[in-house]
Amino acid sequence: MLKIAFIAHDRKKDEMVNFITAYEHVFTEHQLYSTGTTGLRIMEQTKLQIHRFMSGPLGGDQQIGALVAQNEMDMIIFLRDPLMAQPHEPDISALLRLCDVQGIPLATNVATAEILVKALDRGDFAWRELVHKYKPGIGELGDIK
Ligand code: PGA
Repeated sequence: MLKIAFIAHDRKKDEMVNFITAYEHVFTEHQLYSTGTTGLRIMEQTKLQIHRFMSGPLGGDQQIGALVAQNEMDMIIFLRDPLMAQPHEPDISALLRLCDVQGIPLATNVATAEILVKALDRGDFAWRELVHKYKPGIGELGDIK
């Protein structure tokens, strides 16, 4: 069971719900997280149970980022609105950066998300189980400065 997070900006929420509905049978096998409203919308329209953090502008991206920093999160689907400025742009950039720090698979559009979910369904994420098994505890990261 892996940890997967969903975030969708307002004009992308319908797209997110449609996408999750199509792959509900895959996501139901995993531990799911989201920002506040995104999770509410998904839970209203599917049978999935999702741990909801704060809304994005109130710190939800940072809460998900905290799990990424600890290498706990295994996949993020983040449907950003590329045509609208967001008040919490620094939080968004920080989350994307942390995904690159830890090498976490991140989709920012549905085309990529679909490829990730198909990979997940056929077992291509098994390496993340190994990461969890062998990752160092907090404070044991050695020579990272
Ligand atoms: P929301 O947060 O799911 O609470 O809308 C996401 C965002 O808009 O950043």
